Amino acid sequence: SSVNNPITPSVKVNCTQLLINGKFVDSASATYISPNPIGKTFPTYDPRTGDVIAHVSEGDAEDIDRAVSAARKAFDEGPWPRMTAYERAKVLFRFADLLDKHTEELSTLETWDNGKPYEQSAKIELPMISRVIRYYAGWADKVHGLTVPADGPHHVQTINEPIGVAGQIIPWNFPLLMFAWKVGPALACGCTIVLKSAEQTPLSALFAAKLLHEAGLPPGVLNVISGFGSTAGAALSSHMEVDKLAFTGSSDTGKIVLAAAAKSNLKPVTLELGGKSPFIVCKDADVDKAVELAHFALFFNQGQCCCAGSRTYVHESVYDEFIEKAKARALKRRVGDPFKAGTEQGPQIDSTQFKKILRYIRSGVESGATLVAGGERLGNKGYYIRPTVFANVKEDMLIAQDEIFGPVQSILKFKDLDELVRRANQTRYGLAAGVFTNDLETANTLTRALRVGTVWINCYDVFDASIPFGGYKMSGQGREKGVHCLSNYLQVKAVVTKLKNPAWM
Ligand code: NAD
Repeated sequence: SSVNNPITPSVKVNCTQLLINGKFVDSASATYISPNPIGKTFPTYDPRTGDVIAHVSEGDAEDIDRAVSAARKAFDEGPWPRMTAYERAKVLFRFADLLDKHTEELSTLETWDNGKPYEQSAKIELPMISRVIRYYAGWADKVHGLTVPADGPHHVQTINEPIGVAGQIIPWNFPLLMFAWKVGPALACGCTIVLKSAEQTPLSALFAAKLLHEAGLPPGVLNVISGFGSTAGAALSSHMEVDKLAFTGSSDTGKIVLAAAAKSNLKPVTLELGGKSPFIVCKDADVDKAVELAHFALFFNQGQCCCAGSRTYVHESVYDEFIEKAKARALKRRVGDPFKAGTEQGPQIDSTQFKKILRYIRSGVESGATLVAGGERLGNKGYYIRPTVFANVKEDMLIAQDEIFGPVQSILKFKDLDELVRRANQTRYGLAAGVFTNDLETANTLTRALRVGTVWINCYDVFDASIPFGGYKMSGQGREKGVHCLSNYLQVKAVVTKLKNPAWM
């Protein structure tokens, strides 16, 4: 099968060093290989095989320091915050064109490093990525202030200023999309950036950053550091010269970076964290369509989505039929080499996640849920897991509470809406929810009652650049995308001028 015979990717890995002040450089800390010291590196792996793709420069505290100095200088003295907003927009528009032009290389790097199907990278994600950059390019010259009515003889205006040096930390599940969600709004607002990519997936961010420089970005405005969380990530979140921190990752790490920001310089923090989102199939549902959407809501991207519909609630009147059809759909899912045309599911990101998911599957069986499909690895190399479906899941089971971040669907039965709302909200998370119904009253009731940042009604994972995204409760703080994200990267300055005469003479 394609799982045991990996297809050779068609591009070369060219960018592996740190990007600081517009140049690719080795990391400051050296590995001594006699007689010549070389900068420290770490391997990035192919999830299809566990083999090394490339050795990448490993940034740590000293490199974060160099990158922050470059970003600081670019902000305090450089042209980026000082040029016209239209000039900044033009750089971003050119960058979006280059992303489109290099779709094949970028998608190949993304699939190789992450394991997601190539067709998903090239046809779904890359278009979303250049779209979000164009969306924020359009905002660059529209983030102006207001004139404010004052009680006394004063002329009052507000000026929106870029917040300064932004530190950005991103995860591995959508490496390039998370890069775009972070750098798009920050650059549009005139900020400079130090971005730390995830240690599992450093490749695409480096290549994209190179394209941004080709598009005309001045040196020092975007610095990209590959490296680990406890070293580079910790140094960035606690840095005294970083003015704002944006983080996407797990809720546990979110607590750590928020504490680090508080203990250092009180930099404001936005957090996009985990989830355990309910997908609700109501009694009036067309079961075939509901099964397909619920399947997509959970299994998309190997189940590695923060907003995965990982608790499928099904009304008792359609439950048995739903289970049979969900099982059949999971068994039909095409798992294989992500470079092969038609593949729906590739391998999980790495051996840590792979083992964690298999542990959760065992825990589901042990806690009494009914395993109706999958439940084991596929093939004997790489990190492939068979699409797994559990029926008869209860809220007190670990598989209904924890974020599994894998291809494991948990199906729960419900009777009436009041009970459903209570159970669906019975989680520390509040990122998203799906509601499948044609009944307007039911849709409205659930929309208001669910404590989540996004409700998708008869759809799922719709991610237009203009739609705000973020979590309630332990799923995060603040919003990304849309107009809401701009305020993360702006300071508001109030300017009050005394008038000699009243405003109206
Ligand atoms: P993670 O929290 O371990 O890692 C995320 C990033 O944080 C990585 O770049 C990592 O190096 C860095 N990091 C780790 N420890 C750090 C520390 N002490 N200080 C600073 N940075 C540190 O998460 P993960 O397991 O790699 O990613 C998956 C998680 O991300 C899931 O929980 C998922 O729900 C979440 N996620 C959320 C969203 C969202 O928008 N809400 C999007 C994607 C992923």
